[in-house]
Amino acid sequence: MQSDFVKPLLLWYNAAKRDLPWRHTDDPYAIYVSEIMLQQTRVEAVLGYYARFLDALPDPARLSVCPDDVLFKLWEGLGYYSRARHMKKTAQILMEEHGGRFPGTKNELLKLPGIGSYTASAIASIAFGEKTAAVDGNVLRVYARLQAFRDNILRDAVKKQVEAELTETMAVLPDAGDVSATGTHPAGDFNQAMIELGALVCLPRGEARCGSCPISRFCQAKVQGLVEELPLRLAPQKRREEKLTVFLIRDGDEVAIRKRPEKGLLSGLYEFPNTEGFLTAEEAVRFVEAEGFEALKVRKLRDARHLFTHVTWLMEGYEIRVSPGSVRRGDCLFVRPDELKRDYALPSAFSAYAELLINE
Ligand code: SF4
Repeated sequence: MQSDFVKPLLLWYNAAKRDLPWRHTDDPYAIYVSEIMLQQTRVEAVLGYYARFLDALPDPARLSVCPDDVLFKLWEGLGYYSRARHMKKTAQILMEEHGGRFPGTKNELLKLPGIGSYTASAIASIAFGEKTAAVDGNVLRVYARLQAFRDNILRDAVKKQVEAELTETMAVLPDAGDVSATGTHPAGDFNQAMIELGALVCLPRGEARCGSCPISRFCQAKVQGLVEELPLRLAPQKRREEKLTVFLIRDGDEVAIRKRPEKGLLSGLYEFPNTEGFLTAEEAVRFVEAEGFEALKVRKLRDARHLFTHVTWLMEGYEIRVSPGSVRRGDCLFVRPDELKRDYALPSAFSAYAELLINE
């Protein structure tokens, strides 16, 4: 990823950032409290609680022994009380295992309850100067537009990719331990600058203020006219469910298979004969007889399911022994289980039924 935008972004941040109380401290605990409060609550709402909380519980020692009803009263109005419970648990872990202090790396912070990748990176960069990208929804939006990035930002793998690219970009920042003219760590400034840009300038839903954006000349979405379209947020599609009845048609020690059509799902591979819907035993017999077999014995097999990207197969199965003299119609081929395993490509969707043959 290009890094030319970093300098103008930081200059803008230092000049335009909102004056928020957690930006006046390098105390990891105070930064932690602000980050947890901001996880599910707007900045304006957090402002009313932050100072009061820190006055009452100014350090992990005090928080670790705070009675729950006092803690919940301090939290009242912020909602999502599990955050407060996690904070107390974290404070207890810090007292027991870390001498009452926060560990200084993202990896260690991630081990504490209620701290995910974003929060760990935010604390590690703002309080300790670690060059690790804190990627929230604001940052994903800025990144997607800056890069004209067309992947779906709701996917975890995509978010991880963005984290990795921005972390790499942070290599151009002064090293950890160096502090900026304002007394803050450059890594923390960078993360907060990206978040601030997303919150104040690079707004969602057609509100982007590209005219006053400090990094507009680096923005690929602006060049390509994609600002309105990006970022892509595609909710995962619900998989369609298809019901199938699968047949193990047995003739002696052989079983029937057939080739799937050359087009569509699992095209050109082999399968056990099957049909749409769930059939009763009588219907199953009628089905194989219509295929030209004389059914001798029917046995219900176990149910199975297989997940494809967009569809789930729900399968019920029957083993049907057929007369050796059956007139074999259609495209069925009879093979022994060892031949099936060795010579034919049978998709894993059918493996629950193939295993029954192997394990006989
Ligand atoms: S130019 Fe517009 S779309 Fe690009 S980063 Fe700036 S505000 Fe966002």
